[in-house]
Amino acid sequence: MAEFPAGQEHKLKQLISSYRCHVCRRCFERDHVRLAARQEQLWIVSVRCSLCRNQQVFWIALKDDQEETLLEDVSQREDREFATMAPIDSDDVLDMHEFLQAFSGDFQRLFST
Ligand SMILES: [Zn+2]
Repeated sequence: MAEFPAGQEHKLKQLISSYRCHVCRRCFERDHVRLAARQEQLWIVSVRCSLCRNQQVFWIALKDDQEETLLEDVSQREDREFATMAPIDSDDVLDMHEFLQAFSGDFQRLFST
């Protein structure tokens, strides 16, 4: 499991805990926030709802001015797909790591589809 960068963990968890579970609308708890992967300024954070166990994934870009931006939350359709999937395991994190290793860094194109 990836480590939060020093000094950023509190801010990231604060950010994620301001969002609600798509399924049951409960606020996420900071203690359930996990960093799934990190590639330079892109962080992929997963959080599991403490009430319904729904797992939600957030992509967060850290800009140069240290203001983080939530790039894109999952869509409703993806949400339903994720709800039926097994929890993220180490294979998934490895897949994401390999994806990011090969990724060109063009986030604008990635998120404009
Ligand atoms: Zn929930």
